[in-house]
Amino acid sequence: MSSEKKSVLILGGGLAGLTAAKRLTDRGFQVKLLEKREIFGGKVSSWKDDEGDWIESGTHCFFGAYTELYDLLKEIKTDHAVLWKEHQLTYTLDAGKRFTFDTWDLPSPLHLMPAIVKNGYFSFGEMAAFSRSLIPLALQKDKYPPTQDHLTFAEWAEKKKFGARLMEKMFRPMALALKFIPPEEISAKIILDVTETFYRIPESSCMGFLKGAPQEYIHQPLLDYSASRGAIFKSNTAIEELLWDGKEIKGVQLRNGEILTADYYLSALPIHNLQKVLPDPLKKHDRFFGGLDNLEGVPVISVQIWYDQEITPVDNVLFSPDGVIPVYANLARTTPDYRRLRGESFNGKTRFEFCVAPAKSLMGLSKEEIVRQVDMSVRNCYPETSHGAKILKSTLVKIPQSVYAPTPNMEQFRPTQRTPLRNLFLAGGFSRQPYYDSMGGAVMSANLAVEGIVREAGLKEG
Ligand SMILES: Cc1cc2nc3c(=O)[nH]c(=O)nc-3n(C[C@H](O)[C@H](O)[C@H](O)COP(=O)(O)OP(=O)(O)OC[C@H]3O[C@@H](n4cnc5c(N)ncnc54)[C@H](O)[C@@H]3O)c2cc1C
Repeated sequence: MSSEKKSVLILGGGLAGLTAAKRLTDRGFQVKLLEKREIFGGKVSSWKDDEGDWIESGTHCFFGAYTELYDLLKEIKTDHAVLWKEHQLTYTLDAGKRFTFDTWDLPSPLHLMPAIVKNGYFSFGEMAAFSRSLIPLALQKDKYPPTQDHLTFAEWAEKKKFGARLMEKMFRPMALALKFIPPEEISAKIILDVTETFYRIPESSCMGFLKGAPQEYIHQPLLDYSASRGAIFKSNTAIEELLWDGKEIKGVQLRNGEILTADYYLSALPIHNLQKVLPDPLKKHDRFFGGLDNLEGVPVISVQIWYDQEITPVDNVLFSPDGVIPVYANLARTTPDYRRLRGESFNGKTRFEFCVAPAKSLMGLSKEEIVRQVDMSVRNCYPETSHGAKILKSTLVKIPQSVYAPTPNMEQFRPTQRTPLRNLFLAGGFSRQPYYDSMGGAVMSANLAVEGIVREAGLKEG
């Protein structure tokens, strides 16, 4: 590595690692990034299967709130690829029932009025009871959610008595869509934080989809940008252990036995992988590192099904409280580049992508059985339009440990990007920033970690 430039070794090539690589390269660091898999992108990765169809790790929606992510996309000139959808949330239920939360183009909180008065499913009394439960949130704003981190959302709702139907039909799929765990497991803080942001910033709940594969519009452009400015990216390179000399990190031991060194080390690994590469003596020596063992990843399954007819024309995200598909979309509508099957145009049909959760009890099942359960959920939600529909193709991705599980009292263990070691920094969705384990959170965490390295290196902050 060049003698005048400070060097940084980035561990992990997901969105956080790739963002950090760009930012550090921009600041004049010599960057090398190591990724275990053949492809980059981590939980947002996408690849083509043997038949030429794009497969994704999971459906990814872009929230209006992710401003740091859009700044990044502008810098690599792909912000045009986020297609914003109508500002509404549609829930699809058993026997073809529906309800929709619309928004009006009015200042907060008036923009939420249609959700209360004309959702077409919950009574005014139910919505009024729910609105009452949010009074502390309206008064204390973002100060309130952290005070409720000791409760699950189900416990919080029980105290507020806002009604079982709202919990079952609206919040269950919302919790599962956000973090793949049900209201009985998710911390109340998460749902309250998200609700507070949606309440305060009208455009934050607006959702978009990429025009095509994240590989084409995010990861490859990021790799090309940084590589053309000297960054080195190594795939198929797994880290075995961080080497600690009792004071700071002295190097990184790779699984192939090689040892690499740098001025600074930036881990952008998921929490369960970071736990494995941190040496035990360091975890015992410092509670900052020891506490990380309290965090764990949530299992989730992604299923794609191509049907030979159009089951729904909705060009937006869809939620479902009934069955195993809490959140999904018809990519043949939302994602223009995906209107294809085996190289042929696929207009006017359905290419669903589902997030299947909770997945704990489904992980051991065969692909055929999981696809059967998903298909059954679809047919329950669309009894008429799914009639006679045939499955042309299905794919499945199981992720045993995906995002970190934000269960009660876990916030205290989320680490800052700066660690007690001078030359070790952390990024990744699990690290501390307001958007939890999400694309927005991953980018924000990388920005914070890079700010820390810039400061440590004595450079002017920019
Ligand atoms: C199914 C699914 C749906 C999602 N939907 C949304 C959504 O709609 N909106 C949203 O904002 N977010 C969504 N998310 C969350 C989002 O994908 C993550 O929060 C984000 O991608 C995390 O990025 P990261 O870089 O922190 O971690 P990761 O993407 O996990 O990247 C970490 C990288 O480290 C690599 N690695 C691991 N161990 C090693 C090792 N020993 N050596 C070298 N490399 C290693 C991994 O292979 C990986 O590439 C979803 C996640 C999933 C799983």
